[in-house]
Amino acid sequence: MKRTILLISIFIFPISLFAQEKKQPNIILMIGDGMGLSQITAGMYSNGNKTALEEFTFIGLSKTHSHNSLVTDSAASGTAMASGVKTLNGVIGINIKNQKVKSILEISKERGYQTGLIATSSIVHATPASFYAKVLSRKEYQKIALQMSESVVDYFIGGGQKHFNNRSDNRNLLKEMKDYDIVSSLSRFDKSEAAKIGLFTNRDEPNRISDGTRIPLKDAVSSVLNQLDQDKKPFFLMVEGSQIDWGGHANEMSYVLSEYNDFNDAIQTVLDYTKNMPNTLIIVTADHETGGLSIPKGKIKNFRVEGTFSTIGHTATMVPVFTKGPSAEIFSGIYDNTSIFKKMLKVVNE
Ligand code: MG
Ligand code: ZN
Repeated sequence: MKRTILLISIFIFPISLFAQEKKQPNIILMIGDGMGLSQITAGMYSNGNKTALEEFTFIGLSKTHSHNSLVTDSAASGTAMASGVKTLNGVIGINIKNQKVKSILEISKERGYQTGLIATSSIVHATPASFYAKVLSRKEYQKIALQMSESVVDYFIGGGQKHFNNRSDNRNLLKEMKDYDIVSSLSRFDKSEAAKIGLFTNRDEPNRISDGTRIPLKDAVSSVLNQLDQDKKPFFLMVEGSQIDWGGHANEMSYVLSEYNDFNDAIQTVLDYTKNMPNTLIIVTADHETGGLSIPKGKIKNFRVEGTFSTIGHTATMVPVFTKGPSAEIFSGIYDNTSIFKKMLKVVNE
């Protein structure tokens, strides 16, 4: 018996050593909220006919409808991408049978990943919330904040501090979040040696980038990637260009373009950063299109774009999915937004 055990250990030991050495791929999911093909086209031409998306190797198309609506909202589509289920508009992290569903961020944490969330909205807004919260209404910001304070998110940068320290239950979650170093600036974020770090960029929703007071998304991304890099573990990071959507709702072309540009710079930063981290899968997509933007005219001189919006809401048009890195090829084709979760899960389970 002893000899059998000894023999088994001799055979198993080197295999388990190998398994520990083989690092699972990092995943960086970048979501341009409301970023349809027209937003990308307009952003590209306005940027001298260039976009960071041209560096990607595989492209797919994602069907964005929710369980109850052809036109989705960010809660249902965020949940679809984060957890692989089609749910009702407005619902986060709960399926149509009223069951809570685990997100790819939570599953990857169980598999030994480090995790991060960055948004140019508040951190409790529907898209980032889809990765840690389970609520029947996306408007339950205080409940979402409470779930965030107890989440497995290691690093976060976003607005919405008031939902944590100015609450109707009089709790101060910032004081309760003892496992986090809540810092007040990006330079403090960089210097922190805590295991979990959070930066609130704003008390409420962050301003638009063109106001000149917001941290460029690329700087937030660099800081989080630096922290993740030091951890020497695989990581899952979600980065949202939140306000491309708000430009669409406002039917303001200049708002869409400046927010696209901020997001595009962040994509370029990720591409540059991961040149030394080849074991990283980058996925860039949108949760839906906003504004029904079309480009009926423009001028070839200076690639000037003139856009027309057809709604102040979202539309049902499919959105593109750009991928690069390990397993990038499995994202080509046409599929439901829930498949983005399923494909990421495959990569995490490798
Ligand atoms: Mg959003
Ligand atoms: Zn929207």
